[in-house]
Amino acid sequence: LNFSSLKTAEVIARKILQEICDHNHEQGNRLMLETAMMSEYNAGRASVREALRLLETQGLVTLKPGRHGGAFVGRTSPDHVGRMLTLFLQMLGATYDDVAICLQIMGPKAAELAARNPDREQVARKLDLAAEADNCKFVLSVDVDQDNLLNFHRTLSSLCGNPVLGLLIDTVESIIVNHIIHSTPPEDRMTWIHSDHEDIADAIRSGDGPLAQELQDRHLQNVLNHYREQSCGHFTDKVQWR
Ligand SMILES: [Zn+2]
Repeated sequence: LNFSSLKTAEVIARKILQEICDHNHEQGNRLMLETAMMSEYNAGRASVREALRLLETQGLVTLKPGRHGGAFVGRTSPDHVGRMLTLFLQMLGATYDDVAICLQIMGPKAAELAARNPDREQVARKLDLAAEADNCKFVLSVDVDQDNLLNFHRTLSSLCGNPVLGLLIDTVESIIVNHIIHSTPPEDRMTWIHSDHEDIADAIRSGDGPLAQELQDRHLQNVLNHYREQSCGHFTDKVQWR
């Protein structure tokens, strides 16, 4: 690939992204066929493929091979953003503790904003769903997958009313989870997490922003300190891209 075809690919990638946003495409929806893109965007096959690969790297598009394959809408996954961010953090020489401190700064603010979210019906509904997921997890004591583990926190992010803050929090959290929590032995699945979540949810439901912020601040401190101890100094390591 030469520079000009890479540039063409970026232009096409922007058009595909615009197409996804304009039509409010949901995750899993099929995009137009490669040949249709070639004529729609007046481009060669190589450029269209490169454009799709650019988006695939970011998880915004998934490509499936075969007769029923094609390009499908992906999602703005914090895991993908986190992967990309670790690339930059490694270059900066940042440590996992730097990442944890950012989570500690931003997380409580999201709880406070969620408490002030004017859409009370949505707040109640999403907190109920998160509580349900927490219950299943602790009652069945299944080996928790990370989406589940983060369910309560992701709920707060989605309720804070600012998609940028929400994505940033979810992203730094996914780095901590994927790089540290996943490789820490899961002995005693910490039932106090459950009751912390309940108290925070109550504060948010009752619209008490300062209390929600304070409780989430303490909760994150406890969780992060727990893993600081459990991970045998892993937090002071420099962030590695992976
Ligand atoms: Zn929690």
